[in-house]
Formats: sequence, C-alpha cells, structure tokens
Amino acid sequence: MTVTLTRADGSRERLSDDVLDELSTALRGPLVPGSDTGTPEPRAEWNAMYGSRAALTARCTGTADVVEAVRFARSHGLLAAVRGGGHSVAGLSSNPEGLLIDLSGMRGVLVDPERRLVRVQGGAVLGAVDRETQAFGLVTPLGRVSETGVAGLTLGGGYGNLDKKYGLACDNLVEAQVVCADGSVRTASETDDPDLFWAIRGGGGNFGVVTTFTFRLHPVGPIVAFAGVMYPLEDVAAIERGWREYADAAPDEVTTAVFTLTFPAAPGMPEIIHDRPVAVVAAVHSGPDPEAGMRVLQPLRELGTPLFDLSQPMPYAVVQSSFDGLFPRGGHRAYWKSQYLDELTDDAIDALARLSQDRPAPLTLVNTFRIGGAVHAVDPEATAFAERTSPYMVSFDTMWTDADQDEAAIAWSRSAFEEMTKYGNGRVFLNFTGRQDEPLQAGTDTAFGRNLHRLGRIKAALDPDNVFQLNNNIVPTPD
Ligand SMILES: Cc1cc2nc3c(=O)[nH]c(=O)nc-3n(C[C@H](O)[C@H](O)[C@H](O)COP(=O)(O)OP(=O)(O)OC[C@H]3O[C@@H](n4cnc5c(N)ncnc54)[C@H](O)[C@@H]3O)c2cc1C
Repeated sequence: MTVTLTRADGSRERLSDDVLDELSTALRGPLVPGSDTGTPEPRAEWNAMYGSRAALTARCTGTADVVEAVRFARSHGLLAAVRGGGHSVAGLSSNPEGLLIDLSGMRGVLVDPERRLVRVQGGAVLGAVDRETQAFGLVTPLGRVSETGVAGLTLGGGYGNLDKKYGLACDNLVEAQVVCADGSVRTASETDDPDLFWAIRGGGGNFGVVTTFTFRLHPVGPIVAFAGVMYPLEDVAAIERGWREYADAAPDEVTTAVFTLTFPAAPGMPEIIHDRPVAVVAAVHSGPDPEAGMRVLQPLRELGTPLFDLSQPMPYAVVQSSFDGLFPRGGHRAYWKSQYLDELTDDAIDALARLSQDRPAPLTLVNTFRIGGAVHAVDPEATAFAERTSPYMVSFDTMWTDADQDEAAIAWSRSAFEEMTKYGNGRVFLNFTGRQDEPLQAGTDTAFGRNLHRLGRIKAALDPDNVFQLNNNIVPTPD
C-alpha cells in the first residue's frame, strides 16, 4: 500500500510501505488509508460539503498516539487536520488529500464533584459532558447541540445556554493538556505555560492538539426553567422588538435567543408547525427554583400569539439536546456567517425580518443572540477571545441539502451578511463561519483585534512552521 499526501507547502509526498508501517507500529489506534472504505468512520464530518475521507487517518486512542501523529506530520512536512467533534462549519477537520489526526475515539469524561471539576478528553462531544456532570447536579457551560465537539467549541470561545450567568466555555477552562507542534506535551493553566493557556482560550487549534480539558463546574439542574415559544414568522418584527426589550432588562440567569426556521413535517413535531416558517423565542433560566424561573420567563410567552409553546420546567440535559434533530451529522450542506451588533435597532430588526422571510432553504436559520453578563465581565485582553462588549450577535446558519444549490445558498448567506454590516460593528464569531474560497486567515483581524499581535508571537514560538494551519489561522509573527 502506498499513500500520497499533501504537504503543508502544497507539494505532494508519496509515503512508502515502510514509512506507513513505522507509523502504524508506533500508534496504538488504527492507521486507516482513505481507500479503506470498508472500515466505518467513527465520526464523520458534520457538513456534508466536506464529507470525503482523509487520505490517511490516525485514529488516536490517547495522548501518546497524538504525539506520534504530530511528530510524523511535522517530520514529513504534512498538512494535518485535527478532528474533535467534526462540527466545523467550515470543514476544517476534513483533509481529503492529507493526514487526519482523529480524536473521536478519545471521549472520556471524568467528574470530580468534590473539587467541582470535570476532565474531558479532546474528542468528547457536549452531550457526553452534560450527561456525566448532570449525574452530580453540576454543569460546565457548553453549546446548544449535543453532538458538537467540546474541543473546537471551547478553543473558539463557546456560547451556550448558560453564558450570561457562567461565561463562555473557554472562560471555565482551568487546565489543558496540549501536544504542541514539536511533539512536546504541555500542561497549560494560569500558572503553567500561561501564554499557551491564554492563547487556547479563543485562539482555536493553532497552538497544538488539546488532549484533555479541565473545566470548572457549577450547580445547575437537573431541572431548569425553559422557554420555547413558536410564533408565526410573519410576526417576527414585532416579536423581536418585544424580545429585545425583555432581553435588555433580563437578569444574568436568563440566556435567550430568537431563531427563525421552518420545521419539517416530522413525527413528534406538533402538526401546527409542520412545514411552517416560525420564529422561536428560546430561553433558559439557570436559577435553582424552576417554578420561579418560569415566572421570570413568562413575558417571552406573551410577545404575540404563539402557534405552539413548549415552555415548561425541563431537565437541563433535555434542553441541551432539544435542537439536535435539526442538525444531523452529514445531513446538510452548510455555510454560516455571523456578526456582532452594538445595538439592535428597529432598522436592524426589520432587515432581519426581511431576510428571515427570504431564506434560501427551509432549514436555513436566521438567529439573534443576546450576549452579556459573565461574558462581558471578562477583560477583552484576559483571554485570546476578544469579543467582550457586543450585546447582540446575528448568525445566518445557511443549510440546504442539494449540491446544485451550493452557489445560490452561499451567495444568499454572503449577501445577508453584507446587508447586516450596515447595523453590525464589523466583528465576527469565528466558530460560525463558512469557508469556501476565503483564506484561512479571514476574519481573524476583526475577531481578535488587539489580541492578534500577541497570538502571532505565541504562534511563532510554538508552531513557527504553521503545522496546525487548518483552523482560523494565525500567522506566526516573531517580534
Ligand atoms: C450544529 C452546530 C451547532 C453549533 N452550536 C454552537 C453553539 O451552540 N455555540 C458555539 O459557540 N458554537 C457552536 N457551533 C460551532 C462550533 O463550536 C464549531 O464549529 C467548533 O469548531 C466545532 O468543534 P468540533 O470539535 O466539533 O469541530 P471539529 O470539526 O472537530 O474541529 C473544528 C476546529 O477545531 C480544531 N480542533 C478540533 N479538535 C481539536 C483538539 N482536540 N485540539 C486542537 N484543535 C482541535 C480543528 O482542527 C478545527 O480547526 C455549532 C456548530 C454546529 C455545526
């Protein structure tokens, strides 16, 4: 067997049997060539546009395997992708002509209830963490879809249903084990390797492969107050005005967003919303008394005349997987765009209302998130994640199923984004980006702002050859 792989400089390298045997022997997990389609992929890429298998995959079973794979990539100058949850919207963990370092077998989650910490391996998905931590009535704030990877989400910041009260996923990180480009294994925390610790809290996968995350835990659940109110999409401009008024005054226990979409006519969904465009006003109140929380959320249920109202006290773990059905792995083609707003003006709401009624496919979402509280309490320079002031973020989660629609759907997403630049502050959330013909550095200047310079220096110190470049890429910039 021979395998030809793309190198980081764009050239191709043909690997002989001997070279592959050497790597295969060094790994505990299997080394799988792309031609071996008989061996199922443990975790395929989420975005169907990037579904092809990597030319060669190292399925890692632990940190030692990751070290071997990184050393191999570096010594051959290979372009290497790293896969955690595989939920990169931009397909950054796919590498059809190169090497994939696949952590999807590294899913361990260990809770220490006394110290209120959870240790999570680099390939775990959010649902696995919520499940284990909820067994102790504890949580660490993660995202809203249970199959998203902890790794990519946290390294890029990580918004979710608890962020106003407890901050971003990266704000709750207390320690990480990282395999750097030279194959060294480092422990990063406030006291050990503080530059690396600063950089991985928002700076993405640029600095190495994180094999273990340790997060702080908080007491939440098992039951929380949940609002999920479906209003007719025609009413979205009025609904969103009322929602804005509520969200601007809501306590930090309330994290809320508006999603517009068309639910499929799926069994289990109420018939009244089958194939019906809706505006979903969603919120979680994370306080200890769910009934009291429901009273706080009540105004969200009275913003208009709902088609259907799912609001009720609910297990936190159920809330965390309530949107899963809309985002099947490999089920959609996707290209997302997002931007932050300093103010959600009436004109911005009217533009969003127009765009949400002009979506290119039923499963395309137009979302408005209220951000604040603990996210804004962190100094913009305290972590690499620099966006600490904008109260709103808008995202166009453009999703469709037919490859013939690629061009039109991507063009719609870009033009919707352009239209919103009139109301936005120019900054973007890098975890919600498509890629296509855009360079890997796209958006990093506005997303990182003043932090980009420090990130470039840390990248130069830890990964001068840019071994880890399939990400929102930070160019190594030595002083
Ligand atoms: C359906 C869906 C829902 C989402 N919901 C949210 C949400 O609620 N909140 C939010 O903030 N974001 C959300 N996102 C965005 C998501 O956080 C990013 O796409 C994130 O990068 C996914 O992480 P992953 O590990 O699943 O991805 P992957 O595709 O595995 O990787 C994404 C990037 O991270 C790098 N990476 C992965 N694992 C590691 C590792 N162990 N060490 C170093 N680098 C690594 C990869 O190389 C790649 O550059 C969502 C995305 C999708 C598709």
